[in-house]
Amino acid sequence: MQINEKMVQEIVAKVVENVNAKNISSAPRQKGVFTTMTEALAAVEKAYKQFRGYSVAQREQMIKNIRKRILEEAETLAVLGVEETGMGRVSDKIIKHQLVANKTPGTEDLSPRVMTGDSGMTLIEMAPYGVIGSITPSTNPSETVLCNSIGMIAAGNAVVFNPHPHACKTANYAVDLVNRAVLEAGGPENLVVSVQKPTMDTSNEMVTSPIVRMLVATGGPGVVKMLLSSGKKAIGAGAGNPPVIVDDTADVEKAGADIVAGASFDNNLPCIAEKECFVFASVADRLIDSMCRNGAYLIKGADVEKLLKIALIEKNGKYVINKKWVGKDAKKFLKELGIDAEPRLIICETENSHPFVQVEMMMPILPIVRVDNIDEAIQYAVAAEHGNRHSAHIHSKNIDHLTRFARAVETTIFVKNAPSYAGIGAGGEGYTTFTIAGPTGEGLTAAHSFTRQRRCVLVDGLHIV
Ligand code: NAD
Repeated sequence: MQINEKMVQEIVAKVVENVNAKNISSAPRQKGVFTTMTEALAAVEKAYKQFRGYSVAQREQMIKNIRKRILEEAETLAVLGVEETGMGRVSDKIIKHQLVANKTPGTEDLSPRVMTGDSGMTLIEMAPYGVIGSITPSTNPSETVLCNSIGMIAAGNAVVFNPHPHACKTANYAVDLVNRAVLEAGGPENLVVSVQKPTMDTSNEMVTSPIVRMLVATGGPGVVKMLLSSGKKAIGAGAGNPPVIVDDTADVEKAGADIVAGASFDNNLPCIAEKECFVFASVADRLIDSMCRNGAYLIKGADVEKLLKIALIEKNGKYVINKKWVGKDAKKFLKELGIDAEPRLIICETENSHPFVQVEMMMPILPIVRVDNIDEAIQYAVAAEHGNRHSAHIHSKNIDHLTRFARAVETTIFVKNAPSYAGIGAGGEGYTTFTIAGPTGEGLTAAHSFTRQRRCVLVDGLHIV
């Protein structure tokens, strides 16, 4: 779907008018959203007990309705997300919601295994965990709630969310949407719950509650570390800093367009998005030229150093992101430099050691580093990924280069000759997820990730051949 800026302005105006008319913040309590975590936990425990009595076909009915509602309300969710967090692009967030609705697996993702032989038959089924506690990020606030809800409900679970405090209105709108869809489809009340004002205290209560059997965290390193020390089964989806390599066998024109599309998508908020580029010196000028013709704006010299002072803050000799600038439009950065332009992405040439290369910025700024050969490209790219083993990308037609980089970087997602988002099913084969679990190894999570395997053994029977 092509969405231009004029359409976006019209969508924002329409949604803001609707939201004001409904006055979402002072409306009666949203479904599933509670004042305290204690209340939320009690409600979701009750819902889970009821949900155990539902069939898989009924689960699928609920999921179908959630998909329908997401598609109907994608624009509202996108506008709310941008308005509340001040991050990202409405047109891209609409596409992200459509992706969640259309490509998150449902109950079909749960396939039992059977073993038969002289001793009879053994069946392994994928059972629900129970109530799952999920911590969600500010960068994909409603997308993560919705994607987690589909997968977790498909697997027969109920969910309690502790959303990011700075994105909780949007996340809670999504919690309400899921409950409305579930109820309409005949499901129980409060199958997914949340709190109005999430804090560290509500997070601790959720993590330590005996009602919660499994934990899932999508966010930066802090939250993943906290979860892994909880003593519970935990899925951690952590930070990345995805490099992209362009070698001299690539279709350089296409590589330029693809990299701008991936790195500028939702202003570079996605954890999978290209965040630094290593290009063979022999094709670097052509790549930069292609990028500039496909939505990028090249800055040089003093402007790069000025931009560094805006985007990052130096603390004890280390650079950290200036949170005020995460996910902002490229034109806002350029305005600070006295440049009046509206590109999707800012690009600049830097050394490999430059903070733009080494820090996960989540801003529409892509540093480009010239390299002499594939050894140097791989060495720099692997180092810039910092062992997150999250995502990495390459444009090349040389099978040895593709293979060597994939082996060296060991990431969960590795995209070849396409924008990074092909790795989550947008223009690439495969399903989508907004919880990519590198640290704990589940990879691209889906319904099967939220299950316990249970074995059922029958001796001397049902082996019929
Ligand atoms: P964040 O780490 O600031 O917050 C994520 C969530 O964790 C929030 O709900 C926050 O309140 C909570 N949190 C943070 N520290 C915590 C702690 N010590 N104890 C308990 N809860 C804690 O992340 P963000 O800025 O919202 O999102 C961006 C980060 O998330 C980036 O690093 C990005 O790469 C990563 N991310 C990863 C994935 C993935 O699938 N792997 C998806 C989206 C975002």
